[in-house]
Amino acid sequence: MDAQKTTKRLKANTALREIIAEFYADGHRAKAEGRPVGWIPPMNGLIELFYAMDIHPIFPENWAPVCAAIGTNRENFAACAGHGYADDLCGYFRNNVGYALDGIDAPDQPLGGLPKPDFLISFGAGCIPTMKTFQVLCDHFDCPVIRADLPQVAMEDIGEHHLRYGVAQIKRLIAFLEDLTGRRLDMDRLSQAVAWTDEACRLWDEIMALRAAVPAPFSAAEIGIMFVMVTRHGTPIAVDFLRDVLAEVKERVAQGVGVVPDERLRLFWDNIPLWYNMKLFNYFEKWNAVVVAETYTSAWTLRMDPSRPLESIAYKSLVSYPLVSCVSLEKRLELIRKAVREYRIDGAILHSNRSCKPISMGQLDIQRMLNDELGVPAVLFDGDHMDGDKFAFAPFQTRIDAFIEMLLERRASAHAPNP
Ligand code: SF4
Repeated sequence: MDAQKTTKRLKANTALREIIAEFYADGHRAKAEGRPVGWIPPMNGLIELFYAMDIHPIFPENWAPVCAAIGTNRENFAACAGHGYADDLCGYFRNNVGYALDGIDAPDQPLGGLPKPDFLISFGAGCIPTMKTFQVLCDHFDCPVIRADLPQVAMEDIGEHHLRYGVAQIKRLIAFLEDLTGRRLDMDRLSQAVAWTDEACRLWDEIMALRAAVPAPFSAAEIGIMFVMVTRHGTPIAVDFLRDVLAEVKERVAQGVGVVPDERLRLFWDNIPLWYNMKLFNYFEKWNAVVVAETYTSAWTLRMDPSRPLESIAYKSLVSYPLVSCVSLEKRLELIRKAVREYRIDGAILHSNRSCKPISMGQLDIQRMLNDELGVPAVLFDGDHMDGDKFAFAPFQTRIDAFIEMLLERRASAHAPNP
């Protein structure tokens, strides 16, 4: 594709590359030093528990975008197919199962590959592909496994009884981890980890809110910064990095530095980006258009209470998937309405993602709401967040070019003087 490289990347990306490399290096160090390595689904409250107990977390679901960015996803898909899995399953499943079953033993892996698990935690309340991934991993690796049971419940329906049940499951997990490591959990350390996560989430919200500035200080091309939210919650690494990002973004806003010099259109993106083609976001720059908000980045709008660490991590575990993928349609419509108002959105791009059925469901309702209720045009395109063979640039280009031209005409007529 012919999208050009933007010249407006955040300087924080240099530090981010180091943080990514260090996270995987630390996993291998942990293995070598005898610190346990546990594989877990992402975005739940186990990460604070792990860091408080000196356990290194590995998130297969986060490894998948890394493989897509590096280009090893194709080999992993082939390995997964070789084990008889269909190629219309979620790309995260195909990548992670192919990698775990075959790729993990290959030499010269990018970032050193993943350290093998000393134990696995399969947490309920995720989407079906995530739960199935862990089912395959549990069958494959010869290591202890604990399956925590959590209900799958929409955010707005979470009640005290769900929270109590979540805390009971967290206590089961703590007993499992204490048995495994031979160490007691220090509650002060857990509170500190929760405090760091809370601060990271607060900084995240502040950074995202600054994108409401015109011109927008950074675009969706930068959302790789969420790596620290997935892997370094519960540590000062995420907090320090996000403080630097915030300072950089504030400075850009104060100086009026935008992604494009003469911003004309502000766009919203629904669904996961194409991890193998993040440059696609730069394609809009030729019209001075910028993707300034997404549904995906709202997954971290969460606060935690260090004085109630167990309840906080139970709540985080309960909302982890409802916040982004298994969210109710009502909640998603509400989130998009808010984003359209706050970020002054001119048009929305809805990625109909063949991999992720949970996030792609309801997009026609979203399109209708945007158009009928808010007067914001939206366009749908077919793609896949992991598999480049399921995304064709030519039809995307045809559709997007026509869409942007239409937005520009609307804008011109809205600004035309009355006869
Ligand atoms: S939420 Fe979507 S992308 Fe994530 S594992 Fe589930 S199906 Fe795949």
